[in-house]
Amino acid sequence: MVESPSGEDTVALCPSCNYAANLEVATSGIEPVGRLNQDKKLEEVHTPNVRTIDELASFLNVDHRRLAKSVVYRHNGAPVLALLAGNDQLNESKFAAALGGGAVVPINADELMALTGADGGSIGPVNLKGFRIIADRRLDGANGMISGANRNDYHLANIDFQRDVTLDGYFDLRTVEPGEPCPRCRSNLKIVNAIEIGHIFKLGTKYSESLGATFLDENGQSNPIVMGSYGIGIERIIASSIEQSHDEHGIIWNKALAPYHVHVIAASMNNKETVLVSNQVYRALMEAGVETLFDDRPSVSAGFKFKDADLMGMPFQIVVGEKGLREKKIEIKVRKSGERIQIPIDEAVPRIKMLLAD
Ligand SMILES: [Zn+2]
Repeated sequence: MVESPSGEDTVALCPSCNYAANLEVATSGIEPVGRLNQDKKLEEVHTPNVRTIDELASFLNVDHRRLAKSVVYRHNGAPVLALLAGNDQLNESKFAAALGGGAVVPINADELMALTGADGGSIGPVNLKGFRIIADRRLDGANGMISGANRNDYHLANIDFQRDVTLDGYFDLRTVEPGEPCPRCRSNLKIVNAIEIGHIFKLGTKYSESLGATFLDENGQSNPIVMGSYGIGIERIIASSIEQSHDEHGIIWNKALAPYHVHVIAASMNNKETVLVSNQVYRALMEAGVETLFDDRPSVSAGFKFKDADLMGMPFQIVVGEKGLREKKIEIKVRKSGERIQIPIDEAVPRIKMLLAD
């Protein structure tokens, strides 16, 4: 992943250690909700017109963490309730993975009313029929919790996850937020956009089994090969490199990636000597193994060619023009710094080789 404002992915990064993970799988060291030292009975609380977690927290004057938020989805057609602490956001990728893969689709208000007799803001895990229920790890074993009572305008207080809730398990279901502690070193995590340059997929034995691709182990037993797929995006490397190395005039190629190392510009193709010398420089560079682009367009002005050369961004430009030729000189322009170096014509190859070796 390469950090970039135009990246299509979102990544959690730790500035202190090397932790970095796509937000689809990133975790943080955020503290669990935990248990209170109490053993109170379930209690139904009247909460008229309270819809959101924020409204509920202020209405009951409790910490957000003591609120178990309910999110309802269908997975393979069957209703599923996910429970999260406070305002934690459900991460659909993690949620789908926790359910064994496949698509998860939110249940709309009408459907939910038909299934439970209540609206989304009043759904909770206690005595909820017909739903598979899973919870985020932060809620593992929590008590003193408040959640919907499955009756509009009512919530249940003193929910003890160990005592009152039948769960299909605790999973990491939440999306990491900026500033949460790094799971490795507890520094504050950053959340940034990034471009995916490469990826690894564990394919397992799915394809080797169907293809009959096997190996013999040390006991002479035949086993399917465990497969992985490792991809690097060539065009993504180029896009990321340009993103990180450009200015208002265009691309600034790194010499290792540049399509050409040198861009020879004949300022005017109407001047015989310019044509002769630029051809000579171009050939000498090519013969010396330097990848060179030659702008010999006859009907384009010098200014236009300079702009195009900056736009295309080869590391070095060699400008051959009448003015310089009067002193038997040509000009090297370093694209990155804008530095211009006047050199005698026959030094083009050694100077460029020196600059490329730098
Ligand atoms: Zn860290």
